[in-house]
Amino acid sequence: WGNSFDRAGGRTLLRRAVPAGMISIRIQKLTKRFGLVTALHDLDLTIEPGELFFLLGPSGCGKTTLLRSLAGFYFPEEGTIFFGGDDVTRLAPHKRNTGMMFQSYALWPHMTVAENVAFGLEERKVARDELKRRVGEALESVRMGSYAERKPNQLSGGQQQRVALARALVVRPRCLLLDEPLSNLDAKLRLEMRAEIRRVCKEFALTTVYVTHDQKEALSVSDRMAILDGGCIRQVGTAREVYRRPACKLVANFIGETDFLEGKVVSAERGGAVVETALGRFHGVLGDLTRVPTAGARVTLSVRPECWTLSRETPERNGVKGRIGACVYLGETAQYDFVAAGGGQTLKIFELNPRFTEQADRGEWFASAAPEDVVVLTE
Ligand code: ATP
Repeated sequence: WGNSFDRAGGRTLLRRAVPAGMISIRIQKLTKRFGLVTALHDLDLTIEPGELFFLLGPSGCGKTTLLRSLAGFYFPEEGTIFFGGDDVTRLAPHKRNTGMMFQSYALWPHMTVAENVAFGLEERKVARDELKRRVGEALESVRMGSYAERKPNQLSGGQQQRVALARALVVRPRCLLLDEPLSNLDAKLRLEMRAEIRRVCKEFALTTVYVTHDQKEALSVSDRMAILDGGCIRQVGTAREVYRRPACKLVANFIGETDFLEGKVVSAERGGAVVETALGRFHGVLGDLTRVPTAGARVTLSVRPECWTLSRETPERNGVKGRIGACVYLGETAQYDFVAAGGGQTLKIFELNPRFTEQADRGEWFASAAPEDVVVLTE
């Protein structure tokens, strides 16, 4: 970003410009090995210009390795990384012009806030006046303008994190790489800072790659996300796509909670399937539209706990007969263990605005789910 001068109607306007080179990040056939361990396996991914993109997945899936490969701390054995049109695969970190904010990137305690932010510019030998102006701007952009002369130990955790963000932004990066940037903060600050990070990324139109273990962080602020497993990407999509239409069991299990039902396909067509399970016959939608199962194929159904509806009457379809076992009342929601008739399986059911908790242990109930909430998974 930066201040640029526009001529408009004879007046010179000072405006904060979008970075000249808003870039895409293209990763092609990337493989990274550590000895016998393949941390990234033939990985393809394109992150669009200005996108806030999250990397998620179980521990050891390769998130940090991918982020560090983008930063230039690791060189891959195979494959290519493009920042816009530039091949940066073998470029040293300081030549990539990325802004970085890592969990362990502490501020220097002996320097003031302004000095901490200025450091990257001094290394780049930016002239004094410009340096001062840019530090001021970066601090303003994270609402820390009035803290320039403080030392880090005179700041709260959230304020320190804002300074770290200003430090990443001040070098006018082409993209921002964030590795668990909020994991040291308490829950309230995390909420505040995740909104702040999104605001800053969008204001400066920065292509941003963000690694986190916190699903809520990813669901709430991402444009899109990738779920990795064993060095491979299992699904890429928006929060809604990944949550509502997981492509495989791993993703369904990793993001949010879910009930799995095993079954056999009766018929499948046009994005949906009818599946026979031990709890009855279900109509559902395919998680992966490119893989239509054949009749007789073994599949798994994924139903989110909040997608079940409890009733006393037999539902038209997609119903399971049973009784309500344990019930936890949480005010705005209740969580039930629903024991399916026959005792074969217990389903987890969440009810928003709970009405049934008092009658929970009495008699026969039905749980049902709409076909669009039943996702048929082939792997
Ligand atoms: P976490 O969520 O636990 O931080 P991650 O998804 O970031 O995990 P990575 O740190 O990228 O996972 O690790 C991917 C795989 O590569 C793991 O099997 C890990 O043990 C291995 N690995 C990572 N760094 C090294 C290294 N420097 N030397 C050897 N193996 C490594």
